[in-house]
Amino acid sequence: MSTENQPIVMLDLVGQYRRLQPEVDAAIASVLQAGDFIQGKSVKQFETDLADYLSVKHVVSCGNGTDALQLAFMALKLPKGSEVIIPSFAYAALAEVVLLLDLVPVYVEVDAHDYTMKVEEIEQQITPRTKVIAPVHLFGKLANMDSIMSIANKYNLYVIEDAAQAIGAYYQGAEYQGFAGTIGTLGTTSFFPSKNLGCFGDGGAVFCNDPILAGEIRQLANHGQSTKYIHDVVGVNSRLDTLQAAVLRVKLNYLNEFSFNRIKIALNYCSQLRDLEVTGQIRLPLTVDECNGLSHSLGIGGSGRRTSPGETEEGISVAVSGHVFHQFTLQVIAYEKRDALRQFLLDRGISTMVYYPLPLHRQKAYYQEVDLPGTERLCKSVLSIPICPELGENEQLRIITSIKDFFKSL
Ligand SMILES: *Cc1c(COP(=O)(O)O)cnc(C)c1O
Repeated sequence: MSTENQPIVMLDLVGQYRRLQPEVDAAIASVLQAGDFIQGKSVKQFETDLADYLSVKHVVSCGNGTDALQLAFMALKLPKGSEVIIPSFAYAALAEVVLLLDLVPVYVEVDAHDYTMKVEEIEQQITPRTKVIAPVHLFGKLANMDSIMSIANKYNLYVIEDAAQAIGAYYQGAEYQGFAGTIGTLGTTSFFPSKNLGCFGDGGAVFCNDPILAGEIRQLANHGQSTKYIHDVVGVNSRLDTLQAAVLRVKLNYLNEFSFNRIKIALNYCSQLRDLEVTGQIRLPLTVDECNGLSHSLGIGGSGRRTSPGETEEGISVAVSGHVFHQFTLQVIAYEKRDALRQFLLDRGISTMVYYPLPLHRQKAYYQEVDLPGTERLCKSVLSIPICPELGENEQLRIITSIKDFFKSL
């Protein structure tokens, strides 16, 4: 095939657009015809569609995922200096918002297997000033919400879930069940183009089940207005464009399919690269047991009960896994070789990324003198390989073969 030497990118936004083009173009044209660019009809419709999909009472859309976090924290009206427990191995938005609002980030480690907040370390960080636990469902994997909620209940804390990377992932705990972002006090997401549900620019949303908080967030996002030109609180201007909402309404219908494809690719990577884990060269984001459980619930490999792509017989989302693989992130055990692997893959036309090279507590902007050796090690050893829903089988094979070739060459 002539695709052999074509570059493999981290995600193929144009490919996805071409596949959905007739529907997306029609949706955009209808907004252009209506001219309702700000808070138009599609915004309300998308909020309702997404609330139905997530089984959450309220979805308040806004300008981007960082604003969603900011609005969530603003709505809680926390006293200055309140402490917020967050992972240091994460995207910067959370630390940024916490500091902007004169709150104090308290950094904790993440689990070395699944990259989400290490729940064993939360309780020892709690002080009388602690007000919020803010887990990040990193790379599409839900944090341990049963434990987080039980600690939050015990100490009377709020929980804000950063679900920017995990929309559509479903948590099936012993105590708590629900989609990412709908279990805590408030949840937030981002529709940045590269996210699992991405628009054609910036966008975000806050999820919650409390009508009073939802109303306050809606008001905050629209200059604190109760009605036009009447400003009751100091708010911000953060709205989802009608054009973006129209695009997102189309794409939401494909979210299960996107998630299904991502999980299928992750399972393929895990089964093909397991040997390298057994010989101690890499670490994979799913154990053999987790892979088996996932294959079964998705009906991959003949044993399952899948009735249509993206749905189980019970009509549950594909993501019963608690993971929607926004990223497929492996670890190079001999981490001083990580950058050589990156270069080796790049020489074969394969893009990869390091999410994230520097922990939040080591960033100049958010610096704190704390000791988080697990997090620092992850920053040196992680490598994310391409996993977008459009990634073909040939491309997956090229990636797998090239990773194996690299370790053979050592
Ligand atoms: C992308 C992202 C955000 C911020 O979203 P924006 O829409 O880019 O502002 C916040 N948190 C996490 C974990 C993210 O991945």
